[in-house]
Amino acid sequence: MTRAVLTLNAGSSSLKVALFPETGDMPLASGLADRIGPDGVLKLKDAQGVALASTGDLTTHEGAITAVMDCFRAHWPDLDLCAIGHRVVHGGAHHAKPAIVDEHLLAELERLTPFAPLHQPHNLAGIRAAMAAFPGVPQVACFDTAFHRTNPWVSDSFALPRALYDEGVRRYGFHGLSYGYIAGELARRAPHLAEGRVIVAHLGNGASMCALQNGRSMASTMGFTALDGLPMGTRCGQVDPGVLLYLMDQKGMTAAQISDLLYRQSGLLGLSGLSNDMRTLEAANTPEAAQAIEHFVFRCQREVGGLAAVLGGIDALIFCGGIGENSRAVRARICERLGWMGIDIDYGRNAANDPVISTDLARTTVMVIPTNEELVIARAARAAVGLMEDAA
Ligand code: AMP
Repeated sequence: MTRAVLTLNAGSSSLKVALFPETGDMPLASGLADRIGPDGVLKLKDAQGVALASTGDLTTHEGAITAVMDCFRAHWPDLDLCAIGHRVVHGGAHHAKPAIVDEHLLAELERLTPFAPLHQPHNLAGIRAAMAAFPGVPQVACFDTAFHRTNPWVSDSFALPRALYDEGVRRYGFHGLSYGYIAGELARRAPHLAEGRVIVAHLGNGASMCALQNGRSMASTMGFTALDGLPMGTRCGQVDPGVLLYLMDQKGMTAAQISDLLYRQSGLLGLSGLSNDMRTLEAANTPEAAQAIEHFVFRCQREVGGLAAVLGGIDALIFCGGIGENSRAVRARICERLGWMGIDIDYGRNAANDPVISTDLARTTVMVIPTNEELVIARAARAAVGLMEDAA
């Protein structure tokens, strides 16, 4: 019998999947159903990176889940699914841990949809599809907001009338599965640093930073939605709310048009006029691409400064996410501007993508730790069904 847990990360037209054994960090298989709809494609590979033959109906999320499981069952005919873990972007103000899904929780999470209209419906659709396909298997929701529930009130409040805070208009913070993984990994690799003041820079197509004190989130750059803070691939990051009033009042833009502008046309794409992808911008030879990278680096520099002020100093800076884990140039440029806080990059280590990229004498340690959100979800799913003691 191959007992396993399945992790699902459902987006609007994609489904990221991984199949983990009962114990251990390496998935048996992983992959992505992309462009779910008439042109859907499914790519799965095993632990050795060998492609698994996979076909099926990819017109809906339900179809994609069935196709994924058909493929897994063809390779592991004795597969026994113990639990399914789901990434859910929003868990609201009270969920500080993963939770087993029931109809009551689903209804609660549906009420949070107005807070994350672009992500939450797809996450919940993924859960419903999995519940229909596997009625007897426990489903576990893992929230991107949960890790930040340790934030003090000053960190999660806006200076708006209090009634708005009470109805949920507050800073939730996101990328919490990634930060949870990094906090755990840091505690394993460098316990003395994990007890201190740490800033984690999750720099990917979505980007944010989190200030950790003794492994707990104190503040982050993302706020009420996953739009705030750093500029991202296509999202704007922090913007003066007066700009939105101008767009509405003077340009007559609708909420839908502004949403499209802020979520899909801004960030690196908007600034460069070329691409949301850092690799493309680094290879491009246009002034706009250079300015887009410069803006990204500047905003990172500024947010590290702000978060270090919250922590009263900094002991370690950790890079993760596609840009943080791979772009030597972006890491170097951010670090070069932070010499005043004891950051001193070792260019050889940075070029080699070493786990520690600061010099031995630097006051502040700079590390690169590849994040692993799927593993956090798998651990939570295992914990929920008693296969291990605690999630994350
Ligand atoms: P993620 O959303 O975490 O998958 O990160 C995607 C981002 O990482 C994109 O902007 C990619 O261009 C960027 N990225 C991935 N690999 C590299 C690389 N080798 N150099 C620079 N940027 C990279």
